[in-house]
Formats: sequence, C-alpha cells, structure tokens
Amino acid sequence: MSRFLKLKSLVPYTPGEQPRSTDRLIKLNTNESPFPPGPEVIKALNAGAVSMLRLYSDPTCAMLREAAADFYGISPDMVCAGNGSDELLALIFHGLTPNGAVFPDITYGFYPVFSDMFGVSAKEIPIREDFSIDVEDYRGEKGTVVIANPNAPTGLYLDEGKVRRLLEQDRDRLVVMDEAYIDFGGKSSVGLLGEYDNLIVVQTFSKSRQLAGERVAIAMSSPEIIADLNTLRFSFNPYNVDSLAILAGSAAMRDREYFEKCRLEIIRSREYTIEKLRELGFNVTDSLANFVFAAPPGMSGGEYMRALRQEGILVRHFDKAKTDAYVRISIGTFEDMQTLIEKTEKILKTARSDAF
Ligand code: PMP
Repeated sequence: MSRFLKLKSLVPYTPGEQPRSTDRLIKLNTNESPFPPGPEVIKALNAGAVSMLRLYSDPTCAMLREAAADFYGISPDMVCAGNGSDELLALIFHGLTPNGAVFPDITYGFYPVFSDMFGVSAKEIPIREDFSIDVEDYRGEKGTVVIANPNAPTGLYLDEGKVRRLLEQDRDRLVVMDEAYIDFGGKSSVGLLGEYDNLIVVQTFSKSRQLAGERVAIAMSSPEIIADLNTLRFSFNPYNVDSLAILAGSAAMRDREYFEKCRLEIIRSREYTIEKLRELGFNVTDSLANFVFAAPPGMSGGEYMRALRQEGILVRHFDKAKTDAYVRISIGTFEDMQTLIEKTEKILKTARSDAF
C-alpha cells in the first residue's frame, strides 16, 4: 500500500478465478453462461460496428434502452444502462442511499465493499437458519434495502408477495432488487414498477444473456429515479457503455428465441444437478439461479472444492462460518454437469475409503 491511498482499510471484492485458458478445465465458478452469445449478437458485432469505434458511444444508450423497454413493456425513460450491474449498483450505493444501506449478511459480496468504498453506513440482517430471507426482518429499517433475488450464493427466491410486503413496509424507503439470476425460474419485479415508485430493478446481461465479457446491464425504475441515476452516471462516466456493448446488448435483448432456449437448458441442467447431488447425500438449497449451493457429505466445502480442482473442475467456496460447509457450483452444459457428478462420485468414494 502506498502512503497516498485514502481508503486504507478498503478490502476489495475478490472475483472468482479467470484462468487464461479453459481448455482443460470445466469452469463452474463465476456463474457465466456456458453458451456463446447468440447468432444475432455475432451478426451485430461486425466490421462496420468496429469501424464506428472512432466515435464515442451513445451516452443515452438509446438502442439498448429501447430494446429493454420493448422486452418488458415499459417506456425507455424507465431504463438506464450500465457497464455491468456492478457499475449500476455502485452508482446506487453512492448516490441513492440517503439513510445508509441494508442487506442480508449472506449475499453478493460486493454490497459491503461498495458500502465501504462510498462511506455508506451498512446494516447486515442475518438470514434465517435455512438460508431464507424473512422480509419482516426489514420492517422499520430506514436504509436503502438491497436484495439479490434470487439471492447469491444460496439461490433462494423471494416471491412477488414478499417483494410487495418489502415495498409496502415503507413507501419512502428505496428497495433495490438485484435480479442477476431472475431469468432462471423467478418472476421479475419489473411488473411492480407501475405500482411502486420506491423500487429499482437491476438486471445483468452476464448470466442469462451470455455477455459477461461485454459488461452490459440495465436498471429499471420510475422516470424520476432513472433521471437521478443519469445524474450520477453523467457525473462519473457518460460513455459508460461502449458502442459494441450497446449493439450486443440490444441484439441479445431482441433475440427472444435464443434467450429462451439457453435459459430453459440451464434450468434443466440445474434440476438434474440438484437431484443427483441429493442422491449422493449433499444438502442442496432449492436454487432458482444458474448455480446450485451444495454441502457435501463427510467433508467441508473447502475440501470438496479442492478435490474438484484436482479433477479439473472450478467451483466457488465462501469461507464465512455460515457458508463454510457449502460450495457454489455454476450450471454449465448438461455434459459439464454429468462430468461434475461422475467426479463427485469418485471423490466421495476416495474420501470414504480413506476414512477406513
Ligand atoms: N449481482 C449479483 C447478485 C451477482 O452475483 C453478480 C455477478 N457477480 C453481479 C450483480 C454483477 O454482475 P455484472 O457486473 O457482471 O453485471
């Protein structure tokens, strides 16, 4: 650390490992899509698009906002685009937390980092023994509530009734629904925007739209809140979404057929994985995300993660007390998940024979 750093105690977010080559690895550690971008995205990223890079990107991101607005049946002035949802969440933590931020103690690891980075007072609400979020625990809290729905890394989903209760507890308190994983079985809260002006829905193109490396995301909210987000965005980086990301994101939004095909395939592979892991004695949550959260029998989460690494499979382990027994396994292709199950059977067999 140099003597010039102002935020001396800042502990940065630790991203999952991004190996240079995934040739001999099955990468199930960062919840990316196992499928490539669709044909419409590939068509959009052509030589003509590259030649336009001499110009700045459209600071209004009109094409992308219109595509998202069409998809959800809302107006484009209810959409703001960002360089990944991490950026949109950063703007929200920075500028839309007049009374601090409130979020579960087990959730996306970036929320406490953003709080520290921007000097936002943060309150962590313990999740329940079964990893669920009880919205009643948020009653009376004044800070902006930030909930990943489904939550990470548990995969557990809050249904619409619970989201409504959260919104109704205090109409003057902002609720941010981070819907990074909503397309894998949940119902988006976008449909509630007409009724509640204290709601922001954030979605990423990194998971269900195959564009993690392109860095595209959207926030959807009332036109007033979107105007505020734009004030923040234009005070930081008006060209936050690059020209290729605008083209790729718009094409991904408009190609409903490819989106549906990929998301249904992930759901099928997730259900297969949950069933097989449970048969092998794992505790597995009822995840509605593109990952499963699973605790192996007879070994810790860390041991299982290391054993899988030896077998060429990357998964994620979070070494907090509450999550230590578990690993988070992203859903890859169906074949990836079959390999995961085979290797897991082998690991459990070896562990059992070592125990004798
Ligand atoms: N929210 C949650 C809950 C996530 O798990 C992630 C992915 N790490 C993000 C937001 C950020 O996604 P991105 O910046 O790629 O849009």
